[in-house]
Amino acid sequence: MSRKVTDKAVGDDRPVRHVKTVIIGSGFAGLGLAIRLSQQGRTDYLVLERGSDVGGTWRDNTYPGAACDVPSHLYSYSFALNPNWSRSFSRQGEIQSYIQGVAKKYNVLDKHIFDCDVTGARWNDDTAQWEITSSKGDFTADTVVSAVGALCEPNLPDIKGINTFEGEIFHSARWNHDADLNGKRVAIIGTGASAIQIIPSIAPQVAKLDVYQRTAPWLLPRVDRPYLKAEQLAFKHVPGVQRLSRAAIYAARETQVVGLAKFPALMQGFQLLAKAKLQYEVRDPELRKKVTPDFRIGCKRMLISNEYYPALSRDNVDVVTDGIAEIRAGSIVTKDGTEREIDALIVATGFHVTDSPTYETITGRDGRTLSEVFDEIGQQGYKGSAVANFPNMFFLLGPNVGLGHTSMVYMIESQINYISDALTTVDRLGLRTVEVRREVQDAYNEDLQAKLSKTVWNTGGCASWYLDKHGNNPTLWPDFTFQFRRLTKNFDVSAYATTTAPAEPKAV
Ligand code: NAP
Repeated sequence: MSRKVTDKAVGDDRPVRHVKTVIIGSGFAGLGLAIRLSQQGRTDYLVLERGSDVGGTWRDNTYPGAACDVPSHLYSYSFALNPNWSRSFSRQGEIQSYIQGVAKKYNVLDKHIFDCDVTGARWNDDTAQWEITSSKGDFTADTVVSAVGALCEPNLPDIKGINTFEGEIFHSARWNHDADLNGKRVAIIGTGASAIQIIPSIAPQVAKLDVYQRTAPWLLPRVDRPYLKAEQLAFKHVPGVQRLSRAAIYAARETQVVGLAKFPALMQGFQLLAKAKLQYEVRDPELRKKVTPDFRIGCKRMLISNEYYPALSRDNVDVVTDGIAEIRAGSIVTKDGTEREIDALIVATGFHVTDSPTYETITGRDGRTLSEVFDEIGQQGYKGSAVANFPNMFFLLGPNVGLGHTSMVYMIESQINYISDALTTVDRLGLRTVEVRREVQDAYNEDLQAKLSKTVWNTGGCASWYLDKHGNNPTLWPDFTFQFRRLTKNFDVSAYATTTAPAEPKAV
């Protein structure tokens, strides 16, 4: 349906398209919800995606060595198992092909508008609709679901002189495949999950690699291997084998919650394993000292790699821990005054997780943006799926649904259950608006933060992006993931303030 509206924010005499539900983003989350809506027989929805394909983070992160830290059979939709995974831990290209295949198979691509950058979403209390502006036109919607995820906005470090660098410079999530690093002097800033995959992949081809490390990460072995043909055949043809394998991976991963979230002292076992690996793989005592972390394992995401330490031990790789003072046109100067010349700079410094710029573009009932609301109270929501002051808006991968130990796709599917049930409930009860009650949200967050205060993420002695400027942990789920699945099984409308559509005037 197309109509004209006179409101300046949306329309301004441009045509406005109305849809019942708008989903923003088509990574694992947005795409999964689109499929569910189609399965429910809903046709009046659109997915607005700023990229030119589905896949989200798996479309964007094409850096050398990009692969998943969660085993393939768990890191996939429960409704679209893939017996053909080539390895126990999939690489980026294979995951992206899987996502593309699922989008095609479930026939939801025609519900997508690609290259559609959403520039604003504003709640209109009079019409009870969201007014959405985008690079592909204006929309109104009864309900908006934000599925943009936490790892989509690259976080560029605010280092003196970084803009004056004249060589190749790019973020890990925006890899420049035209840049030829062969035989070049390269620096990489960061030693997180992305960097530890990039470093071993490029070290053999570059002349020199300087690794600028601010905090040493803990590493565990990566038990990765190609699947045998016989295994793939069994996954495909023997009933239950793949489900069983998935369940076993899920259960094994879930045991980590006991140490991470309940009894951090139990993480000592993992730490001993990581320490032994470090001792064994890093023979040079000076390098070993540099890369030995000074916080409890698990406080930051535990990384897995068998190639990282051997790469750091190469003759052409240096780990620099002195701290960056300045970046110049062709070099990096550290705080001890040493200047190291480079031809290319890779910035692997992570993402805007607790301060996403997308928050500035969403304006709620009282005229404040999500960013303003979060600035005041911290990034808080209800079941990761709703935020008070933002009626008829749901979030996939909202506050406190993040994980470090297992598959985010599991959390996403839990939220899809909740949000799709919310949409059904709204229809069934004829609701005009639903907005989570502030007191319910507050009580939920008090309980969450009390649980989080005992976890290794809060007590492990590290500074991580899991925590915000208020000292709260607005990112992680502090319990077993099956508890979240239970909590999101049905939409609990009683937690929400609701209004119903005014009755139509009776004809006389
Ligand atoms: P990240 O974990 O946030 O790591 C960023 C790195 O950059 C850290 O070492 C950080 O140091 C450093 N850094 C940040 N700002 C800096 C500055 N101004 N100066 C010097 N160093 C700076 O980012 P990421 O590696 O891209 O990973 C982000 C998340 O993506 C992961 O936690 C994970 O959830 C996901 N991921 C998953 C995989 C996988 O499954 N294999 C792969 C990649 C990413 P500090 O530690 O001192 O802050």
